[in-house]
Formats: sequence, C-alpha cells, structure tokens
Amino acid sequence: MRACEGAGCELCGCGVGRQIRYLVCCAEVTTGRVGVLEVGRAPGLQLRDRVQGNGGLRGAVFEVCRAARSKHSRLELVFVDEHPGSHLLSLEPLDLESVLRSTWEKAGG
Ligand SMILES: [Zn+2]
Repeated sequence: MRACEGAGCELCGCGVGRQIRYLVCCAEVTTGRVGVLEVGRAPGLQLRDRVQGNGGLRGAVFEVCRAARSKHSRLELVFVDEHPGSHLLSLEPLDLESVLRSTWEKAGG
C-alpha cells in the first residue's frame, strides 16, 4: 500500500488508486498481539456494516481466512459470537494515521 501521489500518480494511472482499502486495528485473540488488518471492499463493507449496526467494532471477534490457498487470494471475515476477554479489551489501539504514515515512509514515499 502506498499513498496517492496526486496529479500524475502512477498507481491511479493504472486503476489501482480506485481500489478502496479498509483498515482496522485489531488484536490476535490467542497472542494479544495488536496490529492493523488491511482488507478490500467486501470484508471492508462487512466491517463498516458492523460499525453502523453496533456503534463500533470494540469487542467484536472475527476470524480471517484466505478464500483460496494462494497468499494473494482475497481475505474473508466471519464474525464470531464470542466475548474477546478483558485482557484484549484493555489493550490500547494503534493510531491508524501514524501507522499509515510510517508505512508509506518506509515504502519510499
Ligand atoms: Zn494515486
């Protein structure tokens, strides 16, 4: 993922810039490791619907899997009716904006 370079942007020129990506800060249930999950349109809309229906994603538990064995196949989300546990709810979320900024800087932006 890279930031749009504006006028003359190479990625926008080949249509990549039109693909909407969705980011969510989440924690892995088993390890408690906090990170950022980037997904495409279909799982992104699932997340958005969940936010709109429940007022947020805090405490939501979902499984993430690939649609096929290829590591480039799309991600699929399945929400699980399970309590995440207080050890996960007490974790501090990441600042998505600063995560994105540092990702783009590392990518040579
Ligand atoms: Zn662009």
